[in-house]
Amino acid sequence: MLIQGYKLELVSPACDPGTARWSAFARLEDDIRAVLPYLNAIWAGAIYGHAAGYLTWQMGSRAVSVRPRELAVSNLADKDEAEAVVAQLVETINDVWERRDEIAPRTRRRERLRALDVYRLLPGGNCKTCGEPTCFIFANKLAAGQVTVAACTLLYTDEHQGQRAQLLALLDAAA
Ligand code: SF4
Repeated sequence: MLIQGYKLELVSPACDPGTARWSAFARLEDDIRAVLPYLNAIWAGAIYGHAAGYLTWQMGSRAVSVRPRELAVSNLADKDEAEAVVAQLVETINDVWERRDEIAPRTRRRERLRALDVYRLLPGGNCKTCGEPTCFIFANKLAAGQVTVAACTLLYTDEHQGQRAQLLALLDAAA
């Protein structure tokens, strides 16, 4: 088992003291840096810094951050919920560690895909060929993973070759 034990702390965000929602910090007895590339490989949308040793991930309505000796989870109602959510997270991390031989670790940083960056590279003109009413809506859906880039057939014409290459590079960096 990778995480053998931890001490749980519950705090209200410094920027909003007295808030009804809490953040939990689990101070780990063990250094878990080695599991981060495996978590990065299987947690879709995680943001990972290999050299700095951190990983952040959106788990439903909660932001999760994993560091070598600390787990942090936001948006918790009370101590009971914090204990349950952190225990589940620890179980998940330990499970990934046990299965690491089946997972290809990923050390590459995953960039966040922003809808506005996608939008700037689309042909524009709101032609609706992709089935969306505007390029902006298409950009938002592409950034959210709800449509595929190939649906914008205009982008695949010679005229937009340069934009297409840039957009595919953006998508690759976010994959
Ligand atoms: S097909 Fe491309 S150019 Fe046309 S509306 Fe959709 S995203 Fe915009």
